[in-house]
Amino acid sequence: MKGKVLIVGGGAMGTCIAMQAASRMDPLKEPVILIEKGQLGSGSSGRAGAIVHQTYSDRALAGMARDAVRLYHHIQSSTGRSVGLRRTGVLAVVEGTDQERIEKLDRDLEMQIGLGIKTRRVNAEEIRQLAPGIEVADDAVGSFEPEGGYIDPARAIHTFGVLARGRGATTRMGVRDLQIEIENGKVRGAHTSAGFFETPNVVLATGSWTARILGGLGVELPLTVVRSQETFLDIPPMDHVDESEDVFDHSGDSDLETRFKPDPLELMPVPHPVILDLTRRFHLHCEPHAELTRIGRLGPEALTPVKSLRNLDKQATPEFIAWSREALAPRMPIYKDMETKGSISHYTTVTQDSRPIVGPVKGVEGLYMVVGFSGSDFHLAPSIGEGIAQMITGEPVTAFDPAFFAPDRF
Ligand SMILES: Cc1cc2nc3c(=O)[nH]c(=O)nc-3n(C[C@H](O)[C@H](O)[C@H](O)COP(=O)(O)OP(=O)(O)OC[C@H]3O[C@@H](n4cnc5c(N)ncnc54)[C@H](O)[C@@H]3O)c2cc1C
Repeated sequence: MKGKVLIVGGGAMGTCIAMQAASRMDPLKEPVILIEKGQLGSGSSGRAGAIVHQTYSDRALAGMARDAVRLYHHIQSSTGRSVGLRRTGVLAVVEGTDQERIEKLDRDLEMQIGLGIKTRRVNAEEIRQLAPGIEVADDAVGSFEPEGGYIDPARAIHTFGVLARGRGATTRMGVRDLQIEIENGKVRGAHTSAGFFETPNVVLATGSWTARILGGLGVELPLTVVRSQETFLDIPPMDHVDESEDVFDHSGDSDLETRFKPDPLELMPVPHPVILDLTRRFHLHCEPHAELTRIGRLGPEALTPVKSLRNLDKQATPEFIAWSREALAPRMPIYKDMETKGSISHYTTVTQDSRPIVGPVKGVEGLYMVVGFSGSDFHLAPSIGEGIAQMITGEPVTAFDPAFFAPDRF
């Protein structure tokens, strides 16, 4: 099979790249092909909590997250397909004693507001109103973005895949044994269990498997595979929330309303918004359709390096579950006696400078890589998809700052 580009990996990144590339390329003259060794979403994307927020300190990332939130709000009215966006709002909280983080929060807010992101500074009283049951001291502060929330990762990946195919891309599942063929420093194609794909461009959107594939080509980059974990707790009752007022319907705060009636799942009431506790270092959100609340750890200390991708443990460790309960209890006492309803663990890749690597691989013309997001994928995937498609078609890259992500910075 011949193609203009072969995308390897059907996670959030691969499907977004296919969707954006297919909308720019003629399916007859410049076919876009995506191959996946399992099913779409069978890597770590399918297991993500998929929180979408714009609470970034890097201007480059905040702008991309803003664009993703806009896309997710409009995707149904522009394509008829949903990503299961539940707009609960995202509340970031900082203790009053955490002066350094408060100063950073203020700097970040100024930058985010300058980018047109709907967010605002909130004081302790507003925090308590926004998140019923939260315990904060009177000098706590935070930020609140009404347009944030979370999406349904499986539905989002399915939607990206459907849109890619609708625009002429081919998606092939169960394709294994990838061997990229390079001739005179240029990509010629890839041998696989489904035959040879002849193409001048290969994009590796292969998540945790990327370092191994690159290693096989003699390309060494500082990539570390890490384990990311979340604990599931019972969802709190809605007693303390006045549903008649729908405190989490922030439509009045937004100009991003769609003209479609949202999916009923997207309107299920939640006991509180997504919470990013910047002092106690956890993130928390409720999934009423699954009747559970997910808690994960913020920051790189949350990510334990792993040596092998064989026999991956799909559950969080007992230590992580104990840590989550301890971190949460003083902030949200309502969860103190909630039952643990399971956990999840999967693997992502991080880089030395905690910035993703996106772009052409030095020394191999036509080989691109997209790796190292470690928890920010769904916020950034639409821009990454568009920017990679721009690189391949030779257009100026406007979807992101290529220098920020450049593989050759190492
Ligand atoms: C518990 C947890 C919670 C998370 N929460 C969030 C969150 O709230 N928000 C957020 O944005 N991100 C979150 N993430 C991170 C996010 O899920 C991942 O970092 C992201 O999904 C990676 O996307 P990807 O497309 O690059 O990789 P993946 O989803 O891992 O996709 C890579 C795909 O490539 C395929 N593949 C690999 N090698 C080959 C090959 N040789 N041939 C063919 N196919 C191949 C794999 O089968 C896989 O499907 C979370 C992750 C975890 C584990």
